[in-house]
Amino acid sequence: MAGCMGTPGSRPGESCGVIGLYGVERAAEQAYLGLYALQHRGQESAGIVASDGLKIQSAKGLGLLTEAIAPGQLAALPGHIAVGHVRYSTTGARRVQNIQPLVVEYSQGIVAIAHNGNLTNARSLRREYEARGSIFQTSTDSEVFIHLLADPEHLGAENPLREALEHVQGAYSIVLLTASELIAARDPCGFRPLCVGRVGEGYVVASETCALDLLGAAFEREVEPGELITFGERGMEACRFAESPRRARCVFEYIYFARPDSIIFGENVHKVRVRLGENLAESCPAEADIVTSVPDSGNCAALGYSRRSGIRLDHGFVRNHYIGRTFIKPIEESRSADVKIKLNVVRAVVEGKRVVVVDDSIVRGTTSRARMATLREAGAREVHLRISAPPIRRPCYYGIDFQHADELIARDHSVEEIAQFIGVDSLGYQTIEGLMDAVPGEGGDYCCACFTGDYPVEVTEEMDKYALESRYRR
Ligand code: AMP
Repeated sequence: MAGCMGTPGSRPGESCGVIGLYGVERAAEQAYLGLYALQHRGQESAGIVASDGLKIQSAKGLGLLTEAIAPGQLAALPGHIAVGHVRYSTTGARRVQNIQPLVVEYSQGIVAIAHNGNLTNARSLRREYEARGSIFQTSTDSEVFIHLLADPEHLGAENPLREALEHVQGAYSIVLLTASELIAARDPCGFRPLCVGRVGEGYVVASETCALDLLGAAFEREVEPGELITFGERGMEACRFAESPRRARCVFEYIYFARPDSIIFGENVHKVRVRLGENLAESCPAEADIVTSVPDSGNCAALGYSRRSGIRLDHGFVRNHYIGRTFIKPIEESRSADVKIKLNVVRAVVEGKRVVVVDDSIVRGTTSRARMATLREAGAREVHLRISAPPIRRPCYYGIDFQHADELIARDHSVEEIAQFIGVDSLGYQTIEGLMDAVPGEGGDYCCACFTGDYPVEVTEEMDKYALESRYRR
């Protein structure tokens, strides 16, 4: 199993959370509140940029929102327009330059951009601009938006951003701030979620509706794939900048990434996860005394599994909620300590029992292996692991942080081999059919590339090579 043991690559993960506000009093403070709700989408850094119509000011930092920006700093960000960002990365390269929103001054004034997703042609676009003498300040995909926007060929257009977006490929849900406007756009496939809400006379755009809830905003609608919306003095003006060849909503948002209280892609995430658990109980039954979840990622699916199987749900693990990234970092090398700090087993619940453990996914298998070992140590008689996602066999190039094929345990190991590696009596995965049955709409509306290898937007050889190189450069 040596191929599965690595740590994730050093390329910054781009699955993040974004928020934008227009026409809202003390917009920066509201952005701060909204980012609290989106913290699960990124813990590496946070940033907020605000405009009062004339001046643009920003506050950014590394770490969780509260580490990155002190509430006192918000007073220095006056204005009724704001954008904010939380960045996701499980590893390494925490570079101050990469903190979003990116803010630049160009011929048309100052612009700030916050991006969720990964672009598939960012490297080739970057090379083109660099060949023409452009200087990049960050190593993020997102900076190419800025160069495209500032490109003299696009500046003359009625809507330069619209022109710019025609050149990018891949996944992007973006919010962009100018001195007087907020702009939101979503890629033509709609990989990442993005929604619009109303708060008083103003507007909020956010990755997930849980941010709207916190701000007391009413959900209005999703930003449609291929749609660009400008919020300004004339209110909300929407236009389509591209036809959608197909929809490719990231199904992993439902499985793992989004918060259960959010509504994304037209359905509540909790409900989808419960259905995933129910379908899992149908396709992978087990003889057991209790069902327990791996908190929090397996909670909703465990409920569904218990309901459908009739096996009692109990809490076999307790999660420590008081661990910040900064505390984990110094001891990251010790995976088993890391696991035990985060989750402890309730011996009284599992001792002598046949336990079904429900989790959402297995990526490398190493965390699951350590967790299952702690269950055994606590006296569980049998351990049956059930996973609400199908086996992850291919990397994600659109923003979820498993980008290296050789780290995915299911790439070249059978379910039996994985069960043996993790050390469980049985292992059962969701089927693709069970997954599609649990999500709203048609199967063709989703990106399931990490399970099937069917990539909706072309993945170039160069991207694959880069993913591997960045892993070995560590
Ligand atoms: P492992 O056993 O090492 O594959 O880790 C599995 C655990 O990682 C599960 O509890 C998942 O909820 C969690 N997980 C799934 N996807 C990701 C991701 N992209 N980044 C970090 N953790 C993840």
